[in-house]
Amino acid sequence: MNEIDVRLKARRFVTEANAGEIPTMPAYAALADTRIRSESLGCGESGNTMRHPTKGTYIITVNHDESDERKRFTICHEIGHIVLGLPSHHDCSMWAGVKRHPNEMACDWFASELLMPQGAFEKHVPSGEPSASVIEKLGKVFGASFPATASRYASLVAFPCGYAFMSGADVVYAMLNVAFRKKGMRIVNQCTIPHGSVAQRLRASKSRGSDTDQISQEVWLLNCDSGYDLSELSRHNSDFDETISLLWCAEEDMPRGEVDRFNRRVDEESGLEELDGNISWEKNGPRIRR
Ligand SMILES: [Zn+2]
Repeated sequence: MNEIDVRLKARRFVTEANAGEIPTMPAYAALADTRIRSESLGCGESGNTMRHPTKGTYIITVNHDESDERKRFTICHEIGHIVLGLPSHHDCSMWAGVKRHPNEMACDWFASELLMPQGAFEKHVPSGEPSASVIEKLGKVFGASFPATASRYASLVAFPCGYAFMSGADVVYAMLNVAFRKKGMRIVNQCTIPHGSVAQRLRASKSRGSDTDQISQEVWLLNCDSGYDLSELSRHNSDFDETISLLWCAEEDMPRGEVDRFNRRVDEESGLEELDGNISWEKNGPRIRR
């Protein structure tokens, strides 16, 4: 199941659940035929789902000792397992510097759609550049953690923006939004935190906090032109040795032209001439000009 399928299913679920602009978890649970309970699960487990052997309904248990934001995300993630019909693979620890199981990634995408529905989220995003306080305020509105909110922000804003999650010294998840991808740009992934990044500097200081700076695009991005800047807002949580980065740039700092279906850059000067709808005759037959 690819990301687009998962997100479309989640959006249909959100519409059907009619859970309000800032969604309530009971409305989602009711649609998924699920009861939610909260109990201490010990360190390292956020939640689990059991199916009633005869009734066929579900019970989602969330870890009572975790934050309310974490519990809301866990409920939405577990509903993802139920609705998508994907068995859980919580045995490998959540973000232990290893690649997450595809089922778990799918349920994280599902959860972000439920927790921060697209229409409502876009309405609350202020104009202008992101900052730690913008992400914090959005997180408060939707009851979501800073990393989950930053990731959602990156995927929904119209300007070029990306997000990376790092556990220890490893980048375990990184994405770029459509504005970056349509220019053929890619982000480094499944590697150590790039040298020269704000994330690397912040983690080395072993402090808990945020920092923002301008760096070269080449630190994080692949297939970019050299000499252009990238803004990086990074936050480090020294308790868990986790770091996140929000990455963005202005449209004018992007490569010119688009990419073709093979992800090759189409140079505007050497690219195809624009079609105008007229038919002209050439040596090898008619050429339709649209
Ligand atoms: Zn899971």
